Formats: sequence, C-alpha cells, structure tokens
Amino acid sequence: YYKKVEPLTRPDPGLLALAATPVVCDRNGIPLRLLTDERWFRHVPMPEDKIPVLVQQAFLAAEDSRFYRHPGFDPLAIIRAARANSRAGHIVSGASTISQQLVKSYKKRGPRTLDAKLQEIIESVRLERLLTKEQILSAYLNRVDLGNNLLGVETAALCYFGKKATALDPVEAATLAALPKAPTLFDPWGRHPERLISRRNWVLDRMTSLGWLSPAAALTGKQSDLMVLLEPPWEAPHLVDNYIAENRERGLTTEARLTVDLNLQREVERTLKSHRLRLHASGARQAAAVIIDNRTLEVLALVGSFEYSARAHGFVNGTKARRSAGSTLKPFLYATAIDQGLTPATVLADVEKAFRSDEGEYLPLNYDRQANGPVNMRLALGKSLNLPAVRLLDHLGEKGVYSLLRGLELLPANAPGIDYYGLGLAVGNPEIRLLDLAAAYATLANGGEFQPPVVVLGQQPAVPRRMISREAAFLITDILADPLVRSSHLQNLQMPEPVALKTGTSTHYRDAWAVGFTRRYTVATWVGNFDGSVTATLPGGQGAGPIFRDLMKNLYPGEPPAPFTPPATITTRRICSMSGLTPSPGCRELKIEYFVLGNEPAVQCGLHNGEGNHELPTDYAQWLKRRHTEGRESRYRLAGYSPNLDAVFVSTTWPQPQIYAGPVQISGEDHSNAAGPTTEIHITYPLDNDRYILEPGQESLTLRLEAKVRNPIERIVWFVDTKELGVAGPPYTFIWNAGRGRHRVQAADENGYGEMIEVTVE
Ligand SMILES: [Zn+2]
Repeated sequence: YYKKVEPLTRPDPGLLALAATPVVCDRNGIPLRLLTDERWFRHVPMPEDKIPVLVQQAFLAAEDSRFYRHPGFDPLAIIRAARANSRAGHIVSGASTISQQLVKSYKKRGPRTLDAKLQEIIESVRLERLLTKEQILSAYLNRVDLGNNLLGVETAALCYFGKKATALDPVEAATLAALPKAPTLFDPWGRHPERLISRRNWVLDRMTSLGWLSPAAALTGKQSDLMVLLEPPWEAPHLVDNYIAENRERGLTTEARLTVDLNLQREVERTLKSHRLRLHASGARQAAAVIIDNRTLEVLALVGSFEYSARAHGFVNGTKARRSAGSTLKPFLYATAIDQGLTPATVLADVEKAFRSDEGEYLPLNYDRQANGPVNMRLALGKSLNLPAVRLLDHLGEKGVYSLLRGLELLPANAPGIDYYGLGLAVGNPEIRLLDLAAAYATLANGGEFQPPVVVLGQQPAVPRRMISREAAFLITDILADPLVRSSHLQNLQMPEPVALKTGTSTHYRDAWAVGFTRRYTVATWVGNFDGSVTATLPGGQGAGPIFRDLMKNLYPGEPPAPFTPPATITTRRICSMSGLTPSPGCRELKIEYFVLGNEPAVQCGLHNGEGNHELPTDYAQWLKRRHTEGRESRYRLAGYSPNLDAVFVSTTWPQPQIYAGPVQISGEDHSNAAGPTTEIHITYPLDNDRYILEPGQESLTLRLEAKVRNPIERIVWFVDTKELGVAGPPYTFIWNAGRGRHRVQAADENGYGEMIEVTVE
C-alpha cells in the first residue's frame, strides 16, 4: 500500500518538553515537596548537560546498550524479540530502543499492531536524523515514566530518594533504571520489593559487563537493601503550605529554594515531639517553634504543630496563629522607657494600684500575686513583674509602646487603636504570632534594627528600619541575659549562656511562650491548645522553657554562644542598688550597672544617711503597712516619719465623736488657691465627679478611700458630707460604706487643710 510521506521537520519542542511541575526545596536543595499537575503527575525537568553520566549509563545498560550504535531501531534486538514473541504466540517484548520509547511517549497510544510498531521505527529513524544522540537521551530521561505518576529521572530521584539525580549512587541509579520496563510491577512503594531488587541487580550486572561499574562495586550494590522514601517528600509542611498560598497568584517558580535547613527542621520537629507527653500531662496538646538567623532574618526552621495531621488541630500553623502575648511584649515597653531616658537602675514601684479605663477599674496583679515594693527596672523586667510594668506604661503613656509594637509588625496592619488595648499593652493583651515575635526579638539582637523574616532564599531582604536605639537594644538584651534576675525554674534549665530569654503566660495558662536569642540565632517557642482551651497551670517558663533550652543546646553543641558586647555609647557606674543613684557613705549595697553615656545618675542617694534604713516615699505606705502587719521585718521606713513603724501604722479608728468641727479647707481642682497649707493632701481614690451605679437591690457600696500626702503627716481625717468618718495614718486609706446620693468626700490634716471631691452613687 501507499503511505503519505510527511516532510522531515523537527519534532515540536512542546511535544518533547513536558510542562514542569514546581518543586520546593530547602536551602541546600533537598526537596521539601513536589507539586503535581492537574492530572496528579509530577515532572521536574533536568537540562541536557546536567544529567549525570552514571544515570545515563544505568538506563542505557537496562534499556538500550547499543543506543550509540544503532540508527534509531535495533535490528538485533528486534530479531531476538521476534523469536520470543513467536514462542509466546503474542507480543511480550517491545524490543524498543530508547529512541522508539521516546517516540512512543509523545505519540498517541494506539493498538500495538505490527503497523504501529513499523510507524514507530520510521519515526525513530526520522528523530535520529533531526536530533543528536545526546538530545534524544536527554529527552527520554526527562520523560520516562518511572511509576507513581513520576516522569523523568530527576522527579523520581527526588521522590524515591529525596535527592537530586546528580547525587545518586550507582545502586540508586540502577534502581531507577530498573523501573521503565514495568513501572507498576517494580513499584518501589509496592508490595514486592524483591522483584525490584532482582531487576536492579540485573542492571548492576549489565553495567559491570559493559565496563561501566567495577565488579566489586556491583557486588556491594547487589547486597544492599532497597532504601527508598516512604512517600514523596512532605517536609516542613506548614512552611511550604504558606509559601504556596502566598505565591500561587504570582505563579510558582519551577524550583523554589526556601531558607529552611531541612536537617535543622527535622531536629526541631524531634525536639518538640520529645516534649509531647510531658506537655500533654499538663493539658497542652500543641506546640510550635521558629528559629531565625539574626544576620539575614532567614527562617532556618519553622514547625507549626507537633504533627501535620487532624490530631489536636495539627493542620493549624502555630507560628502564624494569633495568640495572647502574655509577658513577651514587656521588653519593648522597657526599651521605650530607656529611649525616653529611664535606666536599668530606675526604681519602679511594685505595689498594687488600681488604674482606670473606659472599661472600668483595672487592678493588675503580679504573676505570683506578691508585691515587692521598690524594685529597679532590671529586676522588674527580669522577674517580669506586672505591677511596675503597668505603672510604667501609665507613666509613659501607651502611644510610644503602641507605635513600637506596630513598627515591629507585632500588631496587624488593621489592629485596633490604642484605646482598645490601654494599659493591657504592658501585660500582653494583644494577640501576636510566633513568627512575628521571633523577628521582633531578632531586632533586639540586631541592635534595634528591624527586618521582617525571610523564607525564600535569595529574596531581596527589606531595608532595615531602626525601631529601638542601639543603646536600649543592648540594655534590654543585657537584662534578658542576666541569669541573676531570672526566675528560679529558668535558672535551673541549664541554658547555653549567654542567651537572652523572655517567657510569657497568658490568662488561665492558655499560652506558654519562651522566646530569646544569642547573637547569632533567635528561637521562639509556643505551647498551648489551638482551640484555646486552658492548660493545667502551665507557665511559660515551665511549658515552653525546656523546649527553648533544648533547641538552643542543639544550636550550640560545642562552643558556647558569643558574648553580647555593649556599644561604645554604653558605660558602667557603681551605684546604690536600692536607689539606683550615686552612692553616699551610708549606702551599704552597691553594684555596677550599665548606663547610656550621658545618662548616668547625677544625684547622690539620700535614702541611706541614718541608721542603715531604706527610706521610701509615701507611695509605698500601703505596701509597707501590709508587710509590717504581716510581721515581715525589714529596713524599709517611710521617709519623714518615725522609724518606729508601729507608731506610724496605728490601726485606723472608726467613727468617733467629731474631733474637728471647723470648716474644711477645700483645695479641690484648684490647688493654688489653698491658702498657706504646710501639708498638701491629695485624694487619689475616688476621683472627683466619679459616678457609681448600684446593682438592682443593692443599697450601698463599699469604697476604699485613698489619699496621698506631699510632705510627711502623721494622721489625716476623712469626712463625708462634713461628718467625720475617721482618722487614718499612713497609708491614709479608709473604708466607706456609701449610700445613694451625691456625697462630698474630704480629707484634711489637723489644721483643716486638705482636699474635697464629689462622688455620686445612683
Ligand atoms: Zn543608697
């Protein structure tokens, strides 16, 4: 018969080159995930000149050893096959050359007739005239079906061995070359590995007989087990999910390199899992961790949950979930304070105080529900005390801290305004994400310059933005790295030092955080439950602290971390540890502290001139009275009062016959008009024009009247509606049972000088 002869044209390159499916790798090129096309095929192409000789030889040995000598079809092989076929009575052997197989792979599949076979041979011969042998082999090795919808040697190398074809050893190359003959029969993930091993060993022998492999290497290879991955790579799933979701719109590149280091990633996963039982016993079913390289802001490891599965909501990415910050934001409050002129030696009052907000009154409590009286900033931050933090924020105003948290991208772009958080900013009301927190702490490690974290290798990093002064960043780092002010269970963790560390715990122990850094790395960990359920009293230090410790230890198996070094603008001074001021001869506890150059203490300590007592301002009267009545002796005294605290803290008297009936000098809102008082009394609670609403059925409410005095005064008298309520010594508080109506509340000294306010009870 006649056949139309088509002109010789180059085969459509589109036919030979399959569309590539993207592969996502770690920073060293180890595959994390191979995406599929819409028909669930995977195809990672390889340039012609990159296909290793070893792989070429293995496939030639297995499929077509005379490839370089035949014209596209192999007469000898066809004769051999014809004999086999006639013995079997049907076609069992294709006897196809690599060229023929290549033709078959892009021609539409028809019935395997003799005519089709002939067409294939003709086409192969044409192909050989158009392409070089190298081009044909390369096209073949890029298209060959290696089972499980994996096309090409690179794809199969990545999926079966987790490595690139260039990294294959002879045994692995022979294993891949064993597959094209019957990809399903020899399926590496199938139930008959012995079939594949037997075929592989035959390939190894062929390679030896062709002079491509030494007999010794073949022998060793034939004795080795079949070592393949259990499934296609599925590493760092939360990170890869996130990368795909953020880049799918733009189109994924064929090969993406992420910054993550798979070895470290696996180590972090193992470390988290090793804490699973311990945490589960405390009601915490999930954990997450991030490690960042401070120099580049590259994310080296990111583990979003214990396990990427439905168990305990494990598909949730815990590094991207918004959770209550607990105390983890306090370093940024204190950094703001330092940039506004305070120092690590600044004395802050750790005493209870009610703050007002639109939401009502807010009485912060320390984690251990203790009040320590006067504490310096170093201790307040190191021990993570809440009362001084809230007082400090109240003093500084929320604006600076709020804008710092926004600048560090801890708060989302659409975050509510300052008023929403109020003083809660100091104790971690905002909800934050672990990855953002790690980047914010890396800012401290980097001397105050912020950059967002980077997950794609080679991505142009953002220009660093200075958010905190170099000096404040160092001082905060030094405090966080000071083991002496850490809580005891953190001291017992045996951390690689020096390391700066902060822990955090949210309300009802919902979230436990531990975040910190060395000069080189930032490590952030979170423990809790994705459904927000509470844990059984698992504080940050105990929940996340041991994980943090293990991760740091893993980063520093030998040499300890490099020390944090102060910038040239930081100096040291010897100070009185009580007052933080230049020591006077009476000061007995001295210490060395860091100061920003030019902001060293200028004033001499005036608290330690007498008999070795520490004299406190009357702000501390309430705190000292409680301490005194609990029988806890100390050297604290109230400045300007009798050193005999029994005499100072006489028990408050209850209503008695009026001892003073004269008019009360009103200072009210206009202090300047109060004529000639030697003492000035200021009512701190309630405030003028406060309104109190009674609950239905309630007839009165109990208020604690509070006042403070400018100069020492032994007693003040409280009046309500010109009737004397009682006499009070320091701390001058008085309990008042307030009924319905508008009341005038007055506090006065024995001469009648004082202040009056009005409150309404409705
Ligand atoms: Zn002193």
